[in-house]
Amino acid sequence: GHGTLSIAAILAESARRRPEAPALHFMDQTITYGTLWDQTRAYAGALAARGIGPGSRMAMIVPNVPDFPRVYYAALALGAIVVPVHLLFKTEEIRFVLDDAKVDLVVAAAPFLGEAAPAAALAGVPLLTVLAPPGFELDGEPVARLEDEAAAAEPIERYASVHPLAAATILYTSGTTGTPKGAVGSHLAVVEQVHTCLIDTWDYRPDDVLYGGLPFFHTFGQTVVLNAGFRRGAAIILLPKFDADEALALLVRHQATVFAGVPTNYAAMVAAANRTADRPPLRYAISGGAPLPTALLEAFEAGYGAQVHEGYGLTETSPVASFNLVSEPIRPGTVGRSIWGVDIAVADPETEDRIDLLPPEALGEIVVRGHNLMKGYLGRPDATAAAIVNGWFRTGDLGTVDAGGVIQIVDRKKDMIIRNGYNVYPTEVEAVLSRHPSVALAAVFGVPHPERGQEVHAAVVPVEGADPDPAELVTYVKAKIAAYKYPRVVHLVEALPLGPSGKILKRELQRLFGG
Ligand code: ATP
Repeated sequence: GHGTLSIAAILAESARRRPEAPALHFMDQTITYGTLWDQTRAYAGALAARGIGPGSRMAMIVPNVPDFPRVYYAALALGAIVVPVHLLFKTEEIRFVLDDAKVDLVVAAAPFLGEAAPAAALAGVPLLTVLAPPGFELDGEPVARLEDEAAAAEPIERYASVHPLAAATILYTSGTTGTPKGAVGSHLAVVEQVHTCLIDTWDYRPDDVLYGGLPFFHTFGQTVVLNAGFRRGAAIILLPKFDADEALALLVRHQATVFAGVPTNYAAMVAAANRTADRPPLRYAISGGAPLPTALLEAFEAGYGAQVHEGYGLTETSPVASFNLVSEPIRPGTVGRSIWGVDIAVADPETEDRIDLLPPEALGEIVVRGHNLMKGYLGRPDATAAAIVNGWFRTGDLGTVDAGGVIQIVDRKKDMIIRNGYNVYPTEVEAVLSRHPSVALAAVFGVPHPERGQEVHAAVVPVEGADPDPAELVTYVKAKIAAYKYPRVVHLVEALPLGPSGKILKRELQRLFGG
């Protein structure tokens, strides 16, 4: 025998303990935990009537609106596996996910039906919609609405608790390195992550109001904001599409106390703060997903009066692996120390068949071991075996761990530029560029070069009203770092190409400026 567990307990228990507390702020609505759980039980009744149960796979294409948590926890409460789909995916990409994950049912919000409906038809998967008006039709065909089926079905009484290591989510990596892979996460990995981090990694309190603009289909928003916020019984402000001015207005309106974002969100929030004197009562902020230049951390702290704690992780590590813990002074430029029960070390990146750990301070590939690891990549035993060796997960990131366990991420292995045989780490060059007063955001990347192999280029978004001279930016960096590292070409751009979670798409920059 064994105990049982469910991520759905996160919502169900907060509803049982604090039914009247606000769970969500969305547009003009505030939804309490009690109401949200009742709505979730009704959705679960409808999904059960559609045959969804333990081990079923349910895809969802839903933005950050109240239906995300309703659909997500309803499926989990039935013991089903949730497959959240990237909101920017087109028909072919959605179809790939539906086939690859052998999905039984897909729930797509009305604005996404244009891509989702043909994908579901091609994959032969039944489709339900949310957010569509009653009687809604697509190309003359009625589309079944989950709301209608929930009204007709019997709500479930309580959530199903399953084996702690049963699959709970399948989160697809965006596929920068080839075909997307589905990282299978267990109930245990997510619940353990939330509990561990709420004890000594993050500072969330029950009366907090969290910014909820990070997309919930991605592990960062899903675990760090949604699951952790709900476990603590805090309120979350939903923002379906990131816009910094709108975000700031919402944060002020709902008196937000906690912010969580990727570095490009921080840059946009700093810019937005220059356009209004209004400020929310923020007291704590989390950054992750990409390197946060220290200059940006300081600018946000100056503008918002909240200290930024940077962490590090991946979809495969549920996601947090290390953090600037709330119990310790922050160390800007580092990602802090491994979270409780998780080991982080550095291994020789060249040795593939085994893990060769390197001594403290050595530069190598970051490897992670602990309760936060995924179960594996869905249907890809070879990729799983290559990624997890002796319990250690290879992250594909280069970095160092000092004798005190403080971790620095130097860069992704695949983003490293080799110029004339010398290794250039874009993150380091970006941090220098970010210190220039006219630079709001910088991305450094390699472009093929006939003699040098690769040349160092930078794309720079200037701060509002500034008109920097690209040649001056080159000189600025040249004076501060070794000659082989500084960017030879600086492209001024209005905006950088961003992925759905707000991360900069370097391969897109290479495509734009590489030819
Ligand atoms: P893909 O889905 O193509 O793999 P991705 O690599 O961005 O995209 P995620 O799991 O979202 O997938 O992100 C994990 C990666 O984000 C890490 O491997 C690391 O490169 C980067 N990262 C996360 N946090 C930090 C941080 N604090 N500093 C530097 N890099 C970070």
